[in-house]
Amino acid sequence: MKYEDAPDLKERMNEIISALEMSHIDINRVECLRSFGSSSRRTIARCHALGKLMQRAMKTRAFYAIEFLERFDRMDRKDQDKVIIHELMHIPKTFGGGFRQHDFVCERNVDLMYDRFVSLKTGGNPDMSKRRWF
Ligand SMILES: [Zn+2]
Repeated sequence: MKYEDAPDLKERMNEIISALEMSHIDINRVECLRSFGSSSRRTIARCHALGKLMQRAMKTRAFYAIEFLERFDRMDRKDQDKVIIHELMHIPKTFGGGFRQHDFVCERNVDLMYDRFVSLKTGGNPDMSKRRWF
């Protein structure tokens, strides 16, 4: 396995975090990496965490890393954004080093978040254009 920093994906991730107001996520403690040479054909991305025992042993706080496998770069932008949202949703509100499971991180909830992200990006509230007095 070979790993590479993915600053371009981190930027997109940060944009999603701020648009969707995922304020429980500490962007200084989430990294994005690309991996090459995985034998897994079905996996697109994975969310990794520094668990509680390692935090205690290293005297540090939780840290998350999102790994993007080679398949990710061959997807279209819409599906890529959904994958980023999916991985971010695995991070719990406590930001404690654990994960939320697929009962919550399911296609329906990911799609809801994605739709919100798109509507926010494309202007969101149409009334905003009228608020020229404020
Ligand atoms: Zn998942």
